[in-house]
Amino acid sequence: MEAEDDILRPVPARPYKPVEAQLRVPADATKATLDLLQRAGKRESGLFWYGTRDLNGNGHVHYVAAPKQQMTWGNYHVSPQALAEIVHRLPDGWKPLAQIHSHPGSRVEHSNYDDRMMSSRKSLSLVFPFYGKATAPFPSGVGIHEWQIDYWHLLDDTSAARRVIVTGGSVTVEDLR
Ligand SMILES: [Zn+2]
Repeated sequence: MEAEDDILRPVPARPYKPVEAQLRVPADATKATLDLLQRAGKRESGLFWYGTRDLNGNGHVHYVAAPKQQMTWGNYHVSPQALAEIVHRLPDGWKPLAQIHSHPGSRVEHSNYDDRMMSSRKSLSLVFPFYGKATAPFPSGVGIHEWQIDYWHLLDDTSAARRVIVTGGSVTVEDLR
């Protein structure tokens, strides 16, 4: 397998428009996410956050899952079958809220490959640096991306801190790798 494209993406045609909706993620889910990413060692890995979304578009994370996948130092790949295996077991009404993956270094912006790997444009995309070794309190240092019109925007720190909020609550964690 090859590493992710190093070619930079085109710049967005229009700026990101901040939205009111929040993604609320229990502190336990952020901890489990770091743990799962670190368990992959010096390899990129992909995870998914699932949960409920209310009428105002606010998401609540209840479930952190690592599907079966291929992992290398420079990319990861989840087959549609492996993803379906997880989705089929979700309780009714639960949605994919975020797609997560790790990068080797500090760069957390999407590659072209990352744009192509997104399984839902309604999900957020979170890229964790240093294979999931946290260097700052979440979500600082994490690349949070949101799809608008025709582009996966990387949010600036202010927008990111408004968009993804750490809360209490319990989560289910599953590692199928
Ligand atoms: Zn990537």
